Amino acid sequence: MLTKIKLGISSCLTGEKVRYDGGHKWDRFITETLGKFVEFVPVCPEVECGLGIPREAMHLVAGPEGPRLVTIRTGVDYTERLRAWALNRVKELEREELCGFIFKSGSPSSGMERVKVYGGPGEPAKTGVGLFAREFMQHFPLLPVEDEGRLHDPGLRENFLERLFTLKRWRETLALGAKRGHLVDFHTGHKLLILSHSPKHYTLLGKLVAQLQEIPLPELYARYQTLLMEALRLKSTIKKNVNVLLHVMGYFKKNLSPAEKEELLEIIEEYRLNYIPLIVPVTLLNHYVRKYGQAYLKNQYYLHPHPLELKLRNHV
Ligand code: SF4
Repeated sequence: MLTKIKLGISSCLTGEKVRYDGGHKWDRFITETLGKFVEFVPVCPEVECGLGIPREAMHLVAGPEGPRLVTIRTGVDYTERLRAWALNRVKELEREELCGFIFKSGSPSSGMERVKVYGGPGEPAKTGVGLFAREFMQHFPLLPVEDEGRLHDPGLRENFLERLFTLKRWRETLALGAKRGHLVDFHTGHKLLILSHSPKHYTLLGKLVAQLQEIPLPELYARYQTLLMEALRLKSTIKKNVNVLLHVMGYFKKNLSPAEKEELLEIIEEYRLNYIPLIVPVTLLNHYVRKYGQAYLKNQYYLHPHPLELKLRNHV
């Protein structure tokens, strides 16, 4: 059983009644499905910086040095107050060892992108970032972040969760202590997962691991972590997955009968055409991995990157 992943979250998404109007924005997938694998660390910037519930609603207003956080009716400017609180809060959050953060979309405090900025001519521009979200992302540039709106997109959801689970395994590797052998074990198990996100990073990480005797350990770990996180930030696509599936199929060249090969190729082609979800070819490949005892593939996280219950590879 996996220990739970620590994940920061905008408090109102967990059902806490912290919004300006005393309401919440409870999200079923996040709390009920993801919640089984995750320990949430809720953060409500507006309440934690001392504003009450209920409170006057606020929005971002364009200013000469960037958008400001201002109440809508009476025009009180809370920018400095929230910013000063956020600078401290992100330092406190270092102790939590978070694997990521889910922000509330559209919020002038918590939104991670496309927050409305008022004050210019015409319609408000969707160019803002919530004040706390900005501070958080600057402080933890490598951490996976998403908002609950984007998580409704199956591809973005899968990518975000794959990053969370991988980062958690990476943290577990770090906890074992810095040893070249541990790094090699981690890399070996994640090769195909990395390939499915970025063939370029697959090559770069492979080269880094190949030189591991020549690089001081702290530098090696730091470079590996940066490249790994960069790789996972790039979305896996059907084309990249087909490449990996064919690569995996190559391991069974000598095992599969012509009819089995034909069936597998047909299934991969149906996935390529977007008729069936990724879980179908992956399930068949896992079947062959077990049947033929393929040890290298058995340990590939690409073939089981996150719990099936999350149904992340079931979409077309
Ligand atoms: S969006 Fe952010 S500031 Fe607003 S209620 Fe939710 S957690 Fe609090």
